[in-house]
Amino acid sequence: MKKYLFPIAMLTIFEIIAITLWLTKDNLFYLFNFSYIGISISFGLFLFIKKYKYARRITQLLVGLYMLVYLGLISNENMQIEGFWYYLFTGVFEAATIHYAVAKIFGVLLFGRGWCGYACWTAMILDFLPYKVPEQKRKNIGFIRYIIFGVSFVFVLTLFLSHAGNMERIMFWAFIIGNCVYYITGIILAFAFKDNRAFCKYICPITVFLKPMSYFSLLRVKCNKEKCISCGKCKKVCPMDVDMTDNSRKRQNGTECILCFECVKNCPKDAL
Ligand code: SF4
Ligand code: SF4
Ligand code: SF4
Repeated sequence: MKKYLFPIAMLTIFEIIAITLWLTKDNLFYLFNFSYIGISISFGLFLFIKKYKYARRITQLLVGLYMLVYLGLISNENMQIEGFWYYLFTGVFEAATIHYAVAKIFGVLLFGRGWCGYACWTAMILDFLPYKVPEQKRKNIGFIRYIIFGVSFVFVLTLFLSHAGNMERIMFWAFIIGNCVYYITGIILAFAFKDNRAFCKYICPITVFLKPMSYFSLLRVKCNKEKCISCGKCKKVCPMDVDMTDNSRKRQNGTECILCFECVKNCPKDAL
């Protein structure tokens, strides 16, 4: 039973969030929403423990498709960064602001960039591309993420200051167009840099929140130095160029880890 403690703990955390928001906001949607996400993540972790090859991908599709299709397209919730600014400016602690608080800001202190490995609907598509492990050296263009972050902020701020009408509709179309731009850019970059996760490494504005918070993450891959034989197999399979054999928080690309556990699966000595 001990090995199932982690999925049970994840389910418990999400149920606490689900019930708390349901009762405090008096809205049954939160119970359904966070229970569904918790069950999907726990199910993926359960499959991972059972050594099922596509465990992470199943969770990614369950959560990613739910958020993109049901929340985004059917319920008209803009869960992109523009939606976060929008709800923040309106002073409403709902939808995108709650989503960001749980998955991309405060939750990151607990479960790192699990969002990027198990839930993001952009990466859900990019992970189907052929370059699961980068075939080129990392580029020095990560500054682009800050430009996109600033542009998204100014875009929503301008709409507010100009008192643009029908903001809900504008946000819906911003969600559709934004996602199309992300997918096209992500696919082009993946092929140009031979790296499925190039978009995550250089462009994604959400990493402006994710990276600093994940530096302090409770959940992280650690290396047992007594078992490690320095074979380097772990680094060869990492999609994010992390030096997971270094246990310090300052390890190379440490804030990039998406907790995919490919390194753990491929370590011949169970050192990770
Ligand atoms: S870095 Fe951005 S695009 Fe990549 S998985 Fe994380 S949130 Fe999604
Ligand atoms: S794969 Fe395992 S044994 Fe090899 S370097 Fe990595 S942690 Fe050490
Ligand atoms: S391979 Fe290991 S270090 Fe690299 S992203 Fe996945 S879990 Fe993190």
